[in-house]
Amino acid sequence: MPQSHFISSIFRKEVLDLSAYKVADAGGLIKLDAMENPYRWPEPVIKEWLDVIKEAEINRYPDPEARRLSATLKKIDGISGNLEMLLGNGSDEIIQLLLMALPTHAKVLSPSPGFVMYRQLSRCLGLDYIDIPLLSGDFDLDLPAMLEAIDKHQPSLIFLAYPNNPTGNLFSEISIRKIIEATPGLVVVDEAYAPFTDQSFIDVLGEYSNLLVMRTLSKLGLAGLRLGYIVGESSIIGELNKIRLPYNINTLTQITAEFALNNSDLFKQQTSQIRSERSRVLLEIRSIEGITTYPSEANFILFRTPPDKAASLFEMLKTKGILIKNLSPQGGLLLDCLRVTIGTPDENDAFLQALSSSFEQLN
Ligand code: PMP
Repeated sequence: MPQSHFISSIFRKEVLDLSAYKVADAGGLIKLDAMENPYRWPEPVIKEWLDVIKEAEINRYPDPEARRLSATLKKIDGISGNLEMLLGNGSDEIIQLLLMALPTHAKVLSPSPGFVMYRQLSRCLGLDYIDIPLLSGDFDLDLPAMLEAIDKHQPSLIFLAYPNNPTGNLFSEISIRKIIEATPGLVVVDEAYAPFTDQSFIDVLGEYSNLLVMRTLSKLGLAGLRLGYIVGESSIIGELNKIRLPYNINTLTQITAEFALNNSDLFKQQTSQIRSERSRVLLEIRSIEGITTYPSEANFILFRTPPDKAASLFEMLKTKGILIKNLSPQGGLLLDCLRVTIGTPDENDAFLQALSSSFEQLN
């Protein structure tokens, strides 16, 4: 039997139809494509960290419940009472856990454009993924369309990224509340970009039993650790916990996250630097005639080039040593759109300079 026939006789059609999640090779480039924190830890912090790591009992399995780290995170976010928390190997793993727990062929709904893993993981699990376009002017939720879709499809789960990736905006709070109230299923407010905004649904959790809030330490500056978490009513978290792999948070992640959270001043400093650079970069891009920018509450900025210029601009930036993300191939509302992550002031300067010179060359 030819290998291709063998493969298709083994794997599910949903898997065969997928493309693997690809990450661009950033070798030697200034990396402004993946919403990472650009700052390494200062040497004294690294030294202190290595002293802590030295004590790790790597021969033993990790604490399966990551109790200490969980308690620290709960304290930071003020989680108590009937609320519980579940930790994941990045919030990607939590998205997967949520979807794995749904009935076969359940419906999952999310606005579009949105975070690609919602769709990717839903499809892979054979779930029915429905996306509802955002409003084209400001990328806010199309509330009537969302409510109509909820009424028609009765989704088991709705994902709302707050702020949204890749558009960077916060959806209207009233619209989110109406969606939570209208849905028969769960609503996950994905606060991956929480460090860069003052708005959150964490304090709203007590008001709705079907609301879950998901966060990650990735954008704060710990993307390499892979630690995400979700908070919600303990009965819901208890069900998810049944399908979580026993040791999903490894020992080094548990120890390092705990150490990092106890050094929170460092992250506060870096986050506020990123936020002020965000304002500067936004104004600078906006000053280039012909480029449209969108306001952002995250650590990246979405901008739109004149028709059919995004791919060339992306390639020209790459030639000049800058890697950003070209979203134009996704089409729809993202046609002609590029996304840049906020870097260090020097990296941002290099990007802005390359952007204006490349744009001039294009015209
Ligand atoms: N949610 C959103 C909205 C994101 O943009 C991302 C990362 N790009 C994630 C979740 C996943 O984050 P991680 O798995 O690193 O925690």
